[in-house]
Amino acid sequence: MSIEDNLKPSIMLISPTDIEGDIKKLEEQLRFHQEQESNNVQKVKEELQKIWETLSWLKIAEVQGVWKSKTCRHSLNGRCNAWNVSEPERIGLSQDMVEIGNDNTRHVIVERFPNFCIACPLYEVKRS
Ligand code: SF4
Repeated sequence: MSIEDNLKPSIMLISPTDIEGDIKKLEEQLRFHQEQESNNVQKVKEELQKIWETLSWLKIAEVQGVWKSKTCRHSLNGRCNAWNVSEPERIGLSQDMVEIGNDNTRHVIVERFPNFCIACPLYEVKRS
């Protein structure tokens, strides 16, 4: 048996039409994935936009908290005298944000934690 006889069974004939068909399928798959990717990117952009909008509202709220903590008549020497916060940890305040008075009342140090003032209904402007 010659070397050529051994090689013959391994030869495959491939039609150019089959290859063109395969390439078209691959191109369709690629287009599909590109469209999907583009849709995903668009969704991520929209979510990011929502997060930015929420953040900007939080920034505005923070600024208002600082302003209220400085201009409220109940804020004396950086602490709020209107509220007695008996269990500060329950509302997320650490011990360093609270000052304990002689009568055992607990006042929030709004100078350190002005966010406490953001939604406070007891705000009253200081009168000089
Ligand atoms: S705004 Fe409310 S929390 Fe802030 S100092 Fe005034 S009374 Fe206290």
